[in-house]
Amino acid sequence: MTPETTIISCACGVQYERQERAIAIKDIGLFECVECGARMEIWSGRVVPVFKRIKSDAAPKRSA
Ligand SMILES: [Zn+2]
Repeated sequence: MTPETTIISCACGVQYERQERAIAIKDIGLFECVECGARMEIWSGRVVPVFKRIKSDAAPKRSA
């Protein structure tokens, strides 16, 4: 069983890998872009998305 991975892009240019994962109990949650805070997805149920940011080599380095 290989989870299906899709690539989603935020309006700010950040990209995420998205996979779906089945869990034992119902969960409600939401995912917001870590960069700009835009709401990407809201879920409720026993299949929840998992997001992983894709690092872009082109992104300029910013010191915090
Ligand atoms: Zn964003």
